[in-house]
Amino acid sequence: MSEGSEKRVIIIGAGISGLSAGCYLRMNGYGVTIFELHDKPGGLCTSWNRKGYTIDGCIHWLVGAAPGSPFYRIWRELGAIQNREIVFYDAFARYELPDGRAINFYVDPDRLEEEFKRIGPEDAEVIEELTGAIRKLTSWKQRDDDILTPPEHRGLFAKVGGFFRMLPLMGAFKPFYKLSQGEYAQRYKNPHLRAALSEIFPPRLTALGLPLTLAGMHAGNTGYPVGGSLDFARAIAERCTDLGGEIAYNSRVVEVLIENDTAIGVRLEDGSEHRADYVIGAADAHSTFFELLDGRYITEAQKRYFEELPIFEPLVFVGLGVRDTFADIPPLTDGIIFTPSRPLRVGGRNFEQLHVAIENFDPTLAPEGATTIKTMFYGDYGWWLEKAKDKPAYRQAKEEIALEVVQRLEERFPGISSKVEMTDVATPLTFKRYTNNWRGSMEGWLMTPEAMNMGMPKTLPGLKNFRLIGQWVNPGGGLPPAGSDGRHVAMILCKRDGKRFHAEEPAG
Ligand SMILES: Cc1cc2nc3c(=O)[nH]c(=O)nc-3n(C[C@H](O)[C@H](O)[C@H](O)COP(=O)(O)OP(=O)(O)OC[C@H]3O[C@@H](n4cnc5c(N)ncnc54)[C@H](O)[C@@H]3O)c2cc1C
Repeated sequence: MSEGSEKRVIIIGAGISGLSAGCYLRMNGYGVTIFELHDKPGGLCTSWNRKGYTIDGCIHWLVGAAPGSPFYRIWRELGAIQNREIVFYDAFARYELPDGRAINFYVDPDRLEEEFKRIGPEDAEVIEELTGAIRKLTSWKQRDDDILTPPEHRGLFAKVGGFFRMLPLMGAFKPFYKLSQGEYAQRYKNPHLRAALSEIFPPRLTALGLPLTLAGMHAGNTGYPVGGSLDFARAIAERCTDLGGEIAYNSRVVEVLIENDTAIGVRLEDGSEHRADYVIGAADAHSTFFELLDGRYITEAQKRYFEELPIFEPLVFVGLGVRDTFADIPPLTDGIIFTPSRPLRVGGRNFEQLHVAIENFDPTLAPEGATTIKTMFYGDYGWWLEKAKDKPAYRQAKEEIALEVVQRLEERFPGISSKVEMTDVATPLTFKRYTNNWRGSMEGWLMTPEAMNMGMPKTLPGLKNFRLIGQWVNPGGGLPPAGSDGRHVAMILCKRDGKRFHAEEPAG
């Protein structure tokens, strides 16, 4: 535990939310120890190396790339994006049709409108609704207070102000607000547009995801930080330790210690006990509730989340190292989506389409003249659990997937099989093993139209000095709420302890 501080805080998990909390708490004089089960920081925000290639396991797009935006300020305070080149995408994805045409999901609404109308002129009205919403959302600026300050600290005045600031956007939101992506796609008469819109995002995700994402990119506030995810996480971990925080790796927490309905510390797997004035849960919520807290203090509503709310499904994640620069492929967030001649069988499921992210825009991920590419499939956690009971069969399933992917890629990129130098397959169980996320989920609760308005509690009734942060208490998950939650929890503890909250960027 770092010295010279007034109060001590234990944080469970060195994902982005735990690291962010560690940084802001240190900036405010708290002693900080983060216990992390893995041997590196980042949690889901990670990358791994194979045969000279880096497979980036997370960031496709980072919100907060535009100077002046509130998330930019958070990433700067955390030392995460200083001196880091940001790649801005012209298009989110390119959906290729079997007849050789393509639908580019341009981030510029004018280009997107032209592209969609070229494919489906009969859908002009609904296309204009989409591009109109993107234009409106592009010009919308998030106010610092709405992001930098915890909702608990926003007075009635600020909340009413926030409501009125949202009013001009209501018209833009209306066609999307109540619909899922799958329902929204059905509004298109053109079968190609309908198919592309059904494929681009999970069908149960809120339809608002598309205009919001494209608008963020068009506004220059969303991009890809060169160096990738682990580099990004390591920068924040370094910021935390530079500030005097302690990060204990290979340290799995197995119990939150409680006395008189107050969290007083944690017990680790090795049996050691560690005491603190506050405990912050920045790890998977399911194991925090049902293992570390043994089911105590949890409300019926919180229990129901795990029975009723859909999660971002876990991934089967295939990384390939290819000796090619793919010079004709521009930066695309989600890559190229195409339909091979036969569907792929991955983990007991059929996939008609393949999403291929070609990361030639980040030279740090591959040797010169080569590129890391990846394809992802939503996986069935139960299927993989069953398969893993037979280790050779599990390994074989992984090998077959890599083989099938390369075979299908050969149809789109003739000659690619002879250039593949590395293949790597991670399954939902891999994500569970390294991050402990419930059922291997890639991002916590899915942002459905219903979940969008859910304010999830970050405390447990009756349990003092314990708070939750991160993707499992922010439906939709992602890096932005992980970053802001760390700031918020530090502000909340400061207020409680009568301290004036302070945040700053690292010197230099
Ligand atoms: C493939 C993929 C792509 C993604 N793309 C994007 C993107 O482009 N943009 C974006 O914003 N977000 C993206 N995300 C989501 C984003 O990575 C997560 O939402 C975010 O990193 C979650 O951070 P967190 O700190 O809340 O949780 P986590 O990252 O899950 O961190 C929790 C940490 O707690 C540790 N832990 C768990 N249990 C214990 C225990 N008992 N004891 C000690 N430590 C424990 C874990 O090891 C982990 O390090 C992506 C995720 C994936 C998987």
